[in-house]
Amino acid sequence: MSFPARAVVDLSAIASNVRSLRAHAPTAQVMAVVKADAYGHGLVPAARAALAGGATWLGAAQMDEALALRAAGLSEPRVLTWLYAPGAPLARAIEADVDLAVSSAAALAEVVAAARLVGRTARVHLKVDTGLGRNGLTPADLADVLPAGLRAQADGALALVGIWSHLAFADEPDHPTVRAQHGVFADAVRLVESAGAALEVRHLANSAATLTSPQVHYDLVRPGIAVYGLSPVPQLGSSADFGLVPAMTFEAELATVKRVPAGHGVSYAHQYVTSRDTVLGVVPVGYADGVPRHASGTPERPGGPVRVGDRTVGVAGRVCMDQVVLDLGPDATEQPGDRVELFGTGADGGPTAEDWARVAGTISYEIVTRVSRGVPREYVGLDGAVPSLAASSASASAGAGAGTGAAL
Ligand SMILES: *Cc1c(COP(=O)(O)O)cnc(C)c1O
Repeated sequence: MSFPARAVVDLSAIASNVRSLRAHAPTAQVMAVVKADAYGHGLVPAARAALAGGATWLGAAQMDEALALRAAGLSEPRVLTWLYAPGAPLARAIEADVDLAVSSAAALAEVVAAARLVGRTARVHLKVDTGLGRNGLTPADLADVLPAGLRAQADGALALVGIWSHLAFADEPDHPTVRAQHGVFADAVRLVESAGAALEVRHLANSAATLTSPQVHYDLVRPGIAVYGLSPVPQLGSSADFGLVPAMTFEAELATVKRVPAGHGVSYAHQYVTSRDTVLGVVPVGYADGVPRHASGTPERPGGPVRVGDRTVGVAGRVCMDQVVLDLGPDATEQPGDRVELFGTGADGGPTAEDWARVAGTISYEIVTRVSRGVPREYVGLDGAVPSLAASSASASAGAGAGTGAAL
C-alpha cells in the first residue's frame, strides 16, 4: 500500500462512545446509525464496534447498506432502513430480516406486496413528518394510511412494530419546534396505539436529542455523529464534554519539503505569498481525497489546521485536487516522510474534524463523510478482532461497489 495518507479508525473509541450514549439515555436502546459508510468510518467495522459498545440496533439510510450488514454476517442486531424509491429490492430486505420504514401510502403498498411475494411478515416502522418537512407521513397521511396498515397486519403481511420521526432543530434544544414536534409525535403514537398496533419501539432522538433532550428518548435513540465521537452541538459542548472520543484520525506523510525565498507565491492563483524566507511542505491529499477546498488559506486567514510535530499550521493557499501546501516556517526541521495529522482526537491540542468544519464553513458530519474511499481505512482498537473486521469491510465495500477499501 503506497498511498501516503490514511484514515485511522479507533474502533474502541466507537464502542466507548456507544457506552457513553447508553449512559445518556439509560431507558432506551441504542440504534447506531451507520449510513454513509458509517459516516466514512467503514460500514461493517464500525457497526461491529458499535455493537460491542452495546448498540442493539443499526440504522442504514440506504437499503444496500442494510443488506451489506447482513451479508457481512451481522445477523443478530435489528437493522432499520428508511430511504428507498419505488422498485427497491424490498423482498430481499424482508428476507434478510431488515426492518423497513414506511413514509407513504405507495411505500406501504409495495412493502405489503413484497411481503406476500416472499411469504414473510415485514416489520414496519411508520415514519411521521412531525415538522421536518422531509421524509414521512404527515399526520393527515398517517390517519389515511393506518387502516390499510392494520388490514395488512391482520393478514400477517406486516407487523407495525415502530413509529418514528426526526427533529428539525435537535441541535437547539430550546427551539420551540422541538416541543411542537414532540407534541405531534405523541399524538401520532396515541393514534397508532389506540388503533390496535402493538408497537415495539417509538423513536425520535438523533445524537443531539440523545445528549440534550431526554424527554424525547422514548424506547430507542438513533445517534449517528456521536457514535463517531463528534459533538452534534459544538456550541453547547465539545466531544469531551459529552464523554465522546473522535474515532477517525486523518493523517498523511509529507511528500516534499523545500526552502523558498520571501515573496514566493504558493499554489493556484497565489492566494498565499510567503512573507519571509521559509520552508514549504507538501501534504499529498487534496479535495479529491476529501480535504474541503473551502478550507484554503491566505496570509490573513489560515486554512484548515494541520498538526506538524507539536505545532499546528494552517493550509497555505488553495487546496488542490490531490495536495495542499503548508508554510512550515524558517526554522522547520521536518523531513519528507514525516507524519502530519489533518484531524484526530484533539488530545494534545491537535486539530479536530470540528476545527476543519469551522474553517470550511460546514459541519463535522461533512468533514468525516467526505474523506474519499480512495483513502485507505486502517483499523485499530478492539484487540484481536482487527484483521477480521478489516477483511469484512473490504469485502462489504467491494460488494457495494464502493471502490478501494480497507487496509491492514
Ligand atoms: C442521520 C440520521 C440520524 C442520526 O443523526 P445524527 O445527527 O448523526 O445523530 C438519525 N435519524 C435519521 C432519520 C437520520 O437521517
